[in-house]
Amino acid sequence: MRQPDAVLPDLRDLIAENEGLRARIGYVMEQAQRNHEIMARHQAFDLEIVGASNFPQLVGTIFRLLPVISDLDSVTLSLVDTDADIYTVMHKLGVDFESFPNLLFCEHAVELGFEPGERPRPRLGPYSRAAHGAMFPHPPAGLESVALVPLLRNKRLIGSLNLGSCDPQRFTAALGTDFVEHMASIIAICLENVISNEMLKYIGLTDPLTGVYNRRYIDRRLVEEIARAQRQNYHISFMFIDVDYFKKVNDSVGHQAGDDVLREVAARIKMELRVSDALARFGGEEFVVLLINADLQAAAMVADRIRAGVADKPFDLAGGQYLNVSVSIGVAALDDYARDHAIEGVAQALVASADGALYQAKEAGRNRVVMAG
Ligand code: GH3
Ligand code: MG
Ligand code: MG
Repeated sequence: MRQPDAVLPDLRDLIAENEGLRARIGYVMEQAQRNHEIMARHQAFDLEIVGASNFPQLVGTIFRLLPVISDLDSVTLSLVDTDADIYTVMHKLGVDFESFPNLLFCEHAVELGFEPGERPRPRLGPYSRAAHGAMFPHPPAGLESVALVPLLRNKRLIGSLNLGSCDPQRFTAALGTDFVEHMASIIAICLENVISNEMLKYIGLTDPLTGVYNRRYIDRRLVEEIARAQRQNYHISFMFIDVDYFKKVNDSVGHQAGDDVLREVAARIKMELRVSDALARFGGEEFVVLLINADLQAAAMVADRIRAGVADKPFDLAGGQYLNVSVSIGVAALDDYARDHAIEGVAQALVASADGALYQAKEAGRNRVVMAG
């Protein structure tokens, strides 16, 4: 039998131990709750980026949410973009790169600085301007530690996700990288997906020979612009441009050089346009231009600049050949009557009206501009 006075200290020990355990359980529960919240936030982030339907939406979501959910002071993204294909296509699709100062491009994967090999490892450690300046062109004050995480698709390095913290202990070489690698793998899939979708979109809307828009694009854009012009009450005009005697051009210099002529015509037209205007190759040697915020008189002036831009300077073709080329242009403007009618009909009437004016320009002797109406 135990002595009664010996029971008391034992009980005190037990109570103390019990309290200690309770505190530890409380701490563990708190940690579990915090981890659960982090997981939930990351799951919501994953869903959000998987659902992004285009490139600006995806990178915008990454830059907006990742610093918040992961408590980071800087997030940047470097993309490998050989020949600037991604940049060029996104730019043509209207992506405003100025709103993404942390979106970076590099020509070659080696510039990202990962160890060569099949599976490059994340690089974690203290921040140094000399080593990481390219990845953090606008570092926040007090940036202390960074994680540069490779973005891999089918063993191909497509970029780097760069995370920065003002806490020197946040990213250390000893830290496990499973979590950031998992995040990077989802981001890489989303990026690749969205980039290939945008490329397809671009291919579907452009003319491969000249690089300007195609007919499908202009048909769609015309309807959108007419609807907007009707709502906001501004002028839009439309031009039909046809190369004069292009059959003879092909006959004299050959089909290949004929293609070069078409490319040069497109470039010369483009030089006279504003960024808000849209140029498309409508078919063969016919181009159309949609002018935003231009009435018939203004459009006719632009048309005459285009006509002169083509006719006044001979085309310098491969093999030292020079060729005089001219275009005829029909111009039409959306008039007030159009405001009360169905959009598709208005679009057709506008195109037909410019086409009719082009026919008159041809009849009148070519190398000239005729206004409809
Ligand atoms: P007009 O002054 O009346 O417009 O005379 P034209 O010779 O230009 O007349 P037409 O529109 O009948 O001829 C267009 C020619 O353009 C016929 C076709 O061989 C040529 N063509 C169409 N698409 C292409 C192309 O992609 N490349 C080249 N090189 N030629 C093309
Ligand atoms: Mg023609
Ligand atoms: Mg022609």
